[in-house]
Amino acid sequence: MRKMDSVVMTKLSVDTKFKFRCHKDIKCFTKCCSNIEIVLTPYDVVRLKKRLGLPSDDFLGTYTYMKIDEKSSHPYAILKMNDDEERKCPFVTDKGCTVYTDRPANCRYYPVGQGTMKKGGKDGAVEEEEFYFFIKEPHCFGFDEKKQWTIAAWRKDQEVDLYDRVNMGWKTLQLRKNLPGHELDPKKQIQFYMASYDLDKFRDYIFDSDFLNVFDIDEKTVEGIKNDYEQLIQFGVEYIKYIMMLEETLKLKKDAAKYRKSE
Ligand code: SF4
Ligand code: SF4
Repeated sequence: MRKMDSVVMTKLSVDTKFKFRCHKDIKCFTKCCSNIEIVLTPYDVVRLKKRLGLPSDDFLGTYTYMKIDEKSSHPYAILKMNDDEERKCPFVTDKGCTVYTDRPANCRYYPVGQGTMKKGGKDGAVEEEEFYFFIKEPHCFGFDEKKQWTIAAWRKDQEVDLYDRVNMGWKTLQLRKNLPGHELDPKKQIQFYMASYDLDKFRDYIFDSDFLNVFDIDEKTVEGIKNDYEQLIQFGVEYIKYIMMLEETLKLKKDAAKYRKSE
C-alpha cells in the first residue's frame, strides 16, 4: 500500500493514456522498493515460493507477516520489509529486483493502482467493475519519461493478466462483506489464511486428514488440487466460501458423520 497522498484518485479505464518509463539508468532506480506495504495474493505466494524453492509455510514465515483487515476481519499476507532504517524489500539490490520475473502483482501494476467496486447490474444483480488509478510518488521520475502507454498496454507488458485470472475468485471473496456478528473468529481466520496462502499445508490437510472421507469431491478436482497450484487456489476459494457459510460449495458424503470429529 502506498501513501494515500500519492494516490491520484481519478478512476481510469484501460484506454487511459500515460507517459512512463522505468529503467536501470533512471536516478530513482529501486527507490520504490522500500518502506511499502505489499499485500500479497495467493498466486504471488505460489510464484515466490517456487522461485525461492521453499514450501509455503517457510516462505510465509520468513518473508511475510499476517495482517487482519479491521473492516472485513479477513487475514492478509504482507511482504515483510527488512528491519533496517530504509526498510528495504528483502528482494531488492542495487541491480534491481532479484525475483523480477516472479514479482508480486502489486509490483507489476505500479505506478498503476487497481481497484474493484460493486455496482448495480440488471434485475438487481450486483456486478463488479474494475478501475485503475495512478500512484504518483515524489521519488518516482518515471512519469517524466517519454514512452507512451495505455493502461491496457501496460497490463500486457507487465503480464498481470495471468495473475488477475488466477486470483479472480479470491479477489471477489475480499469484496464480500461479512454480515454484522458474522466476522471471522480466530479459528476461521487461520483456515482462511491457510486456504489462501499456505497452499502446501492446505494440500496436506486435504490429503492427510479425513477431508476426502467427509466431503464429496469429484476425481478430476482431486487430481487438480493434487498437481496444480492454480486449481488448488480455486479450490481454496470454494473451501473459504464453505467455512464462512457464504455458499454450500462443498457437499458432505452420506457417511461423513463418522469421520466428522477428526476432519
Ligand atoms: S521509482 Fe518509478 S521510475 Fe524509479 S525505479 Fe521505481 S517505478 Fe521505476
Ligand atoms: S518484490 Fe521486487 S519489485 Fe517488488 S518491491 Fe520487492 S524488489 Fe521491488
